[in-house]
Amino acid sequence: MSLYQVYAQYPIELASAKGMELTDSNGVKYTDYYGGHAVISIGHSHPHYVKALTEQLEQIGFYSNVVLNRFQEELAERLNAKLNEDYTLFLCNSGAEANENALKLASFKTGRKKILAFKGSFHGRTSAAVAATDNPSIVAPINAGHEVDFIPFGDRKQLEQLLATEQYCSVIIETIQGVGGLDQPSLDFASEINEQCKKTGTLLIADEVQSGFGRSGSFFSFQRFDLEPDFISMAKGMGNGFPIGGVLIHKKHKAVKSELGTTFGGNYLACRAALAVLDVLEEENLIANARDLEAHFRSEVDRLGIEAKIKGAGLMIGLDFGKPTAALRKALLEESHLFVGSSSNPNVVRILPPLNCTKEAISTLLSEIKRLS
Ligand code: PLP
Repeated sequence: MSLYQVYAQYPIELASAKGMELTDSNGVKYTDYYGGHAVISIGHSHPHYVKALTEQLEQIGFYSNVVLNRFQEELAERLNAKLNEDYTLFLCNSGAEANENALKLASFKTGRKKILAFKGSFHGRTSAAVAATDNPSIVAPINAGHEVDFIPFGDRKQLEQLLATEQYCSVIIETIQGVGGLDQPSLDFASEINEQCKKTGTLLIADEVQSGFGRSGSFFSFQRFDLEPDFISMAKGMGNGFPIGGVLIHKKHKAVKSELGTTFGGNYLACRAALAVLDVLEEENLIANARDLEAHFRSEVDRLGIEAKIKGAGLMIGLDFGKPTAALRKALLEESHLFVGSSSNPNVVRILPPLNCTKEAISTLLSEIKRLS
């Protein structure tokens, strides 16, 4: 029996990890500026996180949503404290599932079918989420029945014309595109999206799967814009590696019994993981750290004279060299033992370290990039 080979993989087998350090099965050490694809938010094996999950496992690991779970309530309250308006919480297991549920809710609540998404978007691989992803090669015929239009960031005319038909249930947006290569809408265009959604009864979904939980330097990236989402989807950094996803649903959208559901979503271990992440983000001021490190990143790129455009924000940041970066990324890994990320834009190196990364670590990475580029 062999694996169904869908991944391009490095010939590296990891044995352990601590903070930003990864150790492979031969004892070789690597530094993690990729966070297993923006998942590691508070560092690998953070002691507070390990303690919370271990304690919980000794109490009760799983029961279904047929019983009350106070950790879900606590998580909903703690997340609400990060927002200016009231939202309720639905928990699931991954980013795609979070978006799928948000898209489904938008359709339930409006009775409409069409989706407006953006060029360069990635929202996951389930049916509606993948249909709203701007990559036809991963959309199977079975997913292609969804009615989705893609417009570029900044195209006010199409935004206005399409939403004016009042056929769209939702606009789904990553305010920093992850897989797409760190593009962001302008402040003006974001305000226009907000206004057009309100005017036409179209619901707004902020996909915070990658950018949420502090990675952008704000708790949610959409908070850096004038956006009032109806739904906020999240996953990745939320559980620091424990699979958890969720949708925050604006209080004006009332729940209807059975309209959504899940077996595993919101289980005890997942909730304790997310609560431990929130504890560490708050106690160690990691969101402010993400902002400080963005500033440090910018000044180091300048000081070292790296000839590339900086894209993104916080610790969802990267460099666009205007030419392919595959060889650079390979050298960073093989020679310098530094893991960085790629994107669907081959010219971009994506940097997604744990939020407790340090100035020294950013300087080391950029010196190596300068040396090897
Ligand atoms: N949305 C965004 C913005 C993502 O970056 C991703 C994954 O990379 C997803 C959704 C899908 O998340 P998952 O892989 O957990 O299903």
